[in-house]
Amino acid sequence: MQEIFKGNFTQQEPIPEDGIAAALDVMRSGRLHRYNLSPGELGEVGLLEREFAAYVGSKYALAVCSGGYALATALRALDVKPGDKVLTNAFTLAPVPGSIASVGAVPVFVGVTEDLVIDLDDLAEKAHLSNVLMLSHMRGHICDMDRLVEICSEAGVKIVEDCAHTMGSAWRGVPSGRYGAIGCYSTQTYKHMNSGEGGFLVTDDDEIMARATMLSGSYMLYERHGAVPGPEVFESVKYTTPNVSGRMDHLRAAILRPQLTKLDAQCDAWNARYQVVEDGLRDTPGLRLVDRPNEERYVGSSLQFLLLDWPDVAISDVLGRCLARGVELKWFGGAEPVGFTSRYDSWRYAPSARMPASDRILHGVIDMRLPLTFSLEDCALIARIIRSEVGAVWQEQAA
Ligand SMILES: *Cc1c(COP(=O)(O)O)cnc(C)c1O
Repeated sequence: MQEIFKGNFTQQEPIPEDGIAAALDVMRSGRLHRYNLSPGELGEVGLLEREFAAYVGSKYALAVCSGGYALATALRALDVKPGDKVLTNAFTLAPVPGSIASVGAVPVFVGVTEDLVIDLDDLAEKAHLSNVLMLSHMRGHICDMDRLVEICSEAGVKIVEDCAHTMGSAWRGVPSGRYGAIGCYSTQTYKHMNSGEGGFLVTDDDEIMARATMLSGSYMLYERHGAVPGPEVFESVKYTTPNVSGRMDHLRAAILRPQLTKLDAQCDAWNARYQVVEDGLRDTPGLRLVDRPNEERYVGSSLQFLLLDWPDVAISDVLGRCLARGVELKWFGGAEPVGFTSRYDSWRYAPSARMPASDRILHGVIDMRLPLTFSLEDCALIARIIRSEVGAVWQEQAA
């Protein structure tokens, strides 16, 4: 009898009960807007900002309506103008080049290595083309941040970190999002905390924070924030910074605050699942796992492996066979973007030269989500199914 997996790859856990109770309180109050506060009250959004800044160790934090909004706001706060070039990863998801395009700037794509991180040699070659790098820690893989920071500071390139997949991660003990001038996070349903939509921007820089706060739509009510610089900093930016509304509301903040207190435990739970799948796939002929460096504290909310140099038909065959047994894999190398699996050459508003070394890798990238609703036994079963189907197709190819 062939084993079949019956779980759902897009099923999240419920919102914690204390979050639901806090959300009900906000709804009963009728005061959902972040600035609708009693005198002296900080409210759910302001409290969440303080707590998130404390969690990542930043001076300031701004809660916003989405991760993509945080990225675009970061670029605006750094004064990126229409026509400017912004360096970014060739291997990332559509909201990253999208945020660059949303301010009229032009993405310049940097390649990807077999470890699924940004190619630092390629970055060193292209660093002179721009003064901003939007670094996407795509699928939670963190590059050698020490070398990256060195390349960028030598070239005078400011770093914005896209931490949509690295909330709770760190490199050499420094939280993801704290190497760059600005760190951006998402609390969209498929990320590490779930408010449906939502995000954060963090920084230690007074002026960047004042500008980001004004940009988010503060109506000059910035003194009602929990983690912002003093009013004197706002004096210098408040008449010259446009309002591009993208605030978070108390309802979302109410359901996020209890999730933040549980985040580290959730990350451990993801890693336990990741390690079971990784162990189950180890030494499968033809399948390459991604090495995780010791400096990296990763969050295994998804797992990638490479079927490097496999022909299209064989990869499609693996995907079809796994799907027939309930295991839903995504392929970044398919000819057309499917769901979220787009590539740098799918974003035709941002023309790019071909990158053959990166194309070879992207062609072989297989991706799988690991929601916390999966048990460790589920994860072992998933690994057995992938292992047997990859093995079967591998043998057919050899024959
Ligand atoms: C989800 C995601 C974002 C943006 O998050 P939204 O909250 O959906 O706007 C940015 N970068 C990556 C890599 C993502 O996966």
